[in-house]
Formats: sequence, structure tokens, C-alpha cells
Amino acid sequence: MIEFSENVASLQPSATMAVSTRVKQLIAQGRDILDLCVGEPDFPTPAFVAEAGVRAIQQGRTRYTPAPGVPDLRAAIAQELQRYAGEGQEIGAHGVVVTAGAKQALFNACFCLFGPGDRVIIPVPYWTTYPALVELARAEPVYVKGSVENDFKVTPAELDRVYDGRVRGLMLNSPSNPSGAVYSHEELRAIAEWAKERKVWILSDEIYRRIYFKGQLAPGLLDLPPELTERSVVIDGASKAFAMTGWRIGFTYTSRELAEKMSALQSQMTSNAATPSQYAALAAYRADESQLQVVEEMRRTFERRRDLLVSEFGEKLPEVSYLRPEGAFYFWFNFRALAREDESSIAFCERLLNEAGVGLVPGAAFGDDDFVRMSFAYDDRTLREAVTRLARLAQPVG
Ligand code: PLP
Repeated sequence: MIEFSENVASLQPSATMAVSTRVKQLIAQGRDILDLCVGEPDFPTPAFVAEAGVRAIQQGRTRYTPAPGVPDLRAAIAQELQRYAGEGQEIGAHGVVVTAGAKQALFNACFCLFGPGDRVIIPVPYWTTYPALVELARAEPVYVKGSVENDFKVTPAELDRVYDGRVRGLMLNSPSNPSGAVYSHEELRAIAEWAKERKVWILSDEIYRRIYFKGQLAPGLLDLPPELTERSVVIDGASKAFAMTGWRIGFTYTSRELAEKMSALQSQMTSNAATPSQYAALAAYRADESQLQVVEEMRRTFERRRDLLVSEFGEKLPEVSYLRPEGAFYFWFNFRALAREDESSIAFCERLLNEAGVGLVPGAAFGDDDFVRMSFAYDDRTLREAVTRLARLAQPVG
């Protein structure tokens, strides 16, 4: 056995990727499986974006770029952030670092801000990668669960229950993967005030910000006045909003000083995000209203599917409680009404996969063993069929 470094002592492969790999294996064996594990839009990258990437390759834009990204892209992202930012916020390109996906953006932020002895609060349910990133920085995750009445969103009073002087960071994710919950402006403000008083850094993962069902753009941290966002990093990217998961483009926005440190880290690790991908993202972030129609169409489709699942669950699984998602594309439901006694979410998903041919991600991967996550990045027929199969599994045998 190799003695690995302390750096990776608790490192495991991404839990959601592990489930999805198992589902794909079964599909490859010819089993009739509906794979609802996936965390990416089921749409192609918009043509005008893909074409910009192809053009970049043809024009020879295939060399290194500056580590924090091509200046035009950093400027376009800053402009985009400025367009929606709250009064007094002055967003400069120097605060933007372009990364290989939002995942690298989150890693850069965790690695530059946290270290041994630090504690980082992670609200439950959380995106499965957060604890791993905090641990890679050798810091300690601290979990806090909001109340179900508040869609598991955390409040300052709940944060205070786990706060101590060693807490240096808070991971926020709105719209949330896996719950689909969205923090309001007022809720964000209350948390930002709480964090400011305690000198806690907020890492605000807003990757699903454009997949929002009460408007076009979910509330974000930069809506707040600048004095409340001094110790914050906004994480976002092109993956979900522009159906560009494979292009690997994310970014952080923060103070110049931290941006320079993250850029230095990146310069020693990956140099820069893939150059043609950066040019594709440039087209996305510079898109005009008519080009953005296709993005709006995706948003509407996700909203319609959310409504479909709400009505399917209401009709076929009335005993099951769930969170009505306000954003992202995940349906987070409590499976206890369908479970055997003491069945874990992993055992339930395994049974569901084997007996009903439906692949879902167990809540244990997100810190809550009473729930499971169903992605709705699928067509209506698949979603209807999945709920039908779930309902059939719930029927007593005989
Ligand atoms: N943050 C959240 C909440 C996510 O769900 C995901 C992807 O599933 C990411 C970040 C990573 O995004 P990217 O593909 O840009 O690395």
C-alpha cells in the first residue's frame, strides 16, 4: 500500500461521478435504465458560441494565454457582472480570474484562503465537492443544516450555532445543487452582515444563477453594497448557463489582491483555461439580446420541467415530500415514504436502480441521508416515466 501524503488523506472520487459511472456501466450492459444522475444541461452548446470556439482554433488561437485569462474575456465578464451589480459596486477586470470550470475556481479560492486550523462552514445539503475542497486545503468543514420550513437555507442564527473564532469561511450556493433553493436579497444581506462582523469569507457559488424560475437572474452576492462584499469570492462560469460543461470555463470575481494570488496559483498548476474555450466563452459573455434567446429558451424549458415534476409527484407520489426548486435543475425529495425500514439513501438508490431501472443520486453524497436527487436535465417523457417507475416501486408487492 502506498503511503499517500496528508494532503489527500481523506480524498475520494466525486460521489456523484461514482454513481453516474455505475449507471453508465449498467446501460452499457444493455439494461433499461433511466439515468437521472447527471448534472449538466441536455442541450448542445449554442451554435454562435461553438462557432466562436471553432473559429479560434482555425485562427491559430491555440497558444498559452495569461494565467487569469485573455484580457477581453476578463473584461467581458466584468462588464456582465457590472450590468447586474448593486449600487456602488465597481467591478473591474483585474478582479476576474478565468479558470478551467467553476470547480477550479472553487479550488483556487479554498486553497488561497484556508489552511490547517481553519474551519469552513458548509450548509447542508451541499454540493458534494465542497467538503473535499476544504479538506484539500487542510481546513476543517463544519456542517450546518437549515430548517426544512426554510428550504434548508441557513440563517445568521443557525450560523451562530456553529461559529467559533476559527471559522474563516462560509460556502454559499444559490441556486442550490442539490435542493434548488434560492436565497433572496434579504437573506443574502443578512448573511453578508453576519460574515462581515465576524471577518468570515463568503465563497458564493452562483453557477446556476441564470437557471432561475422567478425571473431571469437569481439574486447574487454582488447585488449588495460593496462594504458587505469585501471579504467574498463570487464563483460562476459558462458550464450550466451556456450548456458548456465540456469546454471547462469558470471564473472567480474578488479583490485584486486575492485575484492575483489565485492567478499565481493557477500559473503554477494549469497555466490557463483552454484557449479556444476562452474565445467561445467570450462570444457567450458578449452575446446580444437576440443571441441570448437560446439561453432564455433553456431556462424556460427547465422551468417547464420543474412544473411537470411537481405535477407528476403530486399525482403519482402524493405521500412524498420535496422542495419545489426555484432554480438549477434538480428535484430534491424525501424518499422515506418509499423506503424500507432504516434503508440508507445509498441502499434505496441501489434498489431503485436494480428493481425499477432509475438512476438517482443518494442524498448521502450531499450530506442528507433522507433525501435523493433527481436531475431534470431530461426530456418530458423520461421524467414522466421515471416518476411512474418510482410510484410502481412504492406499491406493495403482491
Ligand atoms: N458548483 C456547483 C454547485 C455545481 O453543481 C457544479 C457542477 O455540477 C460546479 C460548481 C462545477 O461547475 P464546472 O463544471 O464549471 O466546474
